Amino acid sequence: MDEAVIRKIVQEVVESLTKSQPAPAVATGGGVGVFQTINEAVRAAVTAQRQLMGMTLEARGRIIEAIRQTARQHAEDFSRRKVEETNMGRLEDEIAKHMTAANKTPGLEILRTEAFSGDHGLTIIEMAPYGVIGAVTPVTHPCPTMINNAISIITAGNSVVFNPHPRSKRVFVYAIDIVNRAIAAAGGPVPLVSCVVEPTLETSRELFNHPDIRLLLVTGGPGVVQEALKSSKKVIAAGPGNPPVVVDETADIPKAARDIIAGASFDNNVMCIGEKVVFAVEPVFDSLRREMIRQGAVELNREQIDALARLAFQVESGPLTFGAVEPRLNRDLVGKNADYLAKQIGLNVPASTRLLIGETAPDHLWVMEEQMMPFVPLVRARNVDHAIEMAVVAERNYGHTAVMHSRNVANMDKMARLMNTTLFIKNGPSGAGLGVGGEGYSSFSIASPTGEGVTTARDFTRQRRCVLVDYFRIT
Ligand code: NAD
Repeated sequence: MDEAVIRKIVQEVVESLTKSQPAPAVATGGGVGVFQTINEAVRAAVTAQRQLMGMTLEARGRIIEAIRQTARQHAEDFSRRKVEETNMGRLEDEIAKHMTAANKTPGLEILRTEAFSGDHGLTIIEMAPYGVIGAVTPVTHPCPTMINNAISIITAGNSVVFNPHPRSKRVFVYAIDIVNRAIAAAGGPVPLVSCVVEPTLETSRELFNHPDIRLLLVTGGPGVVQEALKSSKKVIAAGPGNPPVVVDETADIPKAARDIIAGASFDNNVMCIGEKVVFAVEPVFDSLRREMIRQGAVELNREQIDALARLAFQVESGPLTFGAVEPRLNRDLVGKNADYLAKQIGLNVPASTRLLIGETAPDHLWVMEEQMMPFVPLVRARNVDHAIEMAVVAERNYGHTAVMHSRNVANMDKMARLMNTTLFIKNGPSGAGLGVGGEGYSSFSIASPTGEGVTTARDFTRQRRCVLVDYFRIT
């Protein structure tokens, strides 16, 4: 190609990257980063991301710190608004989720440059941003997910446009405005995080297909994962789970009972990692059940279990067996307190009750459906192999999370292999899998269907290889 032509192309590319675009407004929907349309939000996000690229990593670090600080300061404020708007969850647990997102989401330290040096010189692999990311958040934890996703996505040098769950839009819009103001106060460009004021399925489709969105991050149930995967873009999908727990005869039973209650009752079991069903081997089944009751769980009898199941899964008559009926999860019971659930079947339990339990068959709807309520079915297993087999079936191939209480390494190894889940927690509550009481960092988007696992800033980068031939092999 003619040298003049090459020079012209290069000049055009440089100009397109550096010329100052007319800055779009930072808000058309009533708050900084809150827009009437997806298109307006994406346009503003493109400009903010370009500005971010012109800043130093030190400045990016200050922006991340400002987001963390804002999440801590507003943890109670955001939590109260979320509980009020969605009618689900427990205030103290909501606050804990905000603190986890603020404190345990990795920042710049997670982005490491890889280097190879040898006779042919030096090659480095750098983690570069995509540009603008489109993200969808669940109703179960709108702001902790937003904070966690924002820290990861901005750390990687991107901006993000969210389509929050419509039932959490008020708290989301409120928080987006506050986070952007904090970013601006820290010297960052806005809006690095944005959303539409009226999120709908239509706006999520616009987001999934917008030409300036480079990557999608969706966190939610099977519907949103399926819809996002239809788009032609790269997708990171954090989908549903139905975490089973296996308790074998070697487990520390009082500790297992305590951990299961803690994990399953946390935020009324709306967490995707929360313990949803327990398979305990025959020799310890009754002692585990008694220990859970001793530690405050309330046991339901068979009639009560079925009566609550009919309400929870909206099945008026017929069997409550998985596969025999079309259950429709009753959203009005998701994330409600245990005493509220009990009241629905005419049972009064102390308001301090955190968890309801009861024995069921392995194919009961309570076992097989992701119920997101503080009722945990207990299933009797002949032995550990039987328990693991049933746990594999109950997990429904989501590949999300499994828990075991055991001191037998061979049993743990067997379950790890057969479950093949992103998270496998031994001898702790499920939260330990996300760094709460266990080692490691946290995320509110655990991408099992697409394989990224516990997402961090690394997942929002493109690898770029930079090669210097024959120089800089210094030793
Ligand atoms: P949901 O699937 O009803 O909604 C999630 C989000 O997807 C919402 O913003 C919703 O508006 C959107 N959505 C739903 N269907 C859609 C469609 N067809 N097209 C486009 N957008 C759509 O789930 P939820 O009740 O908000 O959240 C609970 C679910 O999310 C549970 O299944 C839980 O396991 C899962 N979850 C997973 C993770 C994870 O990290 N893997 C984290 C939190 C929640």
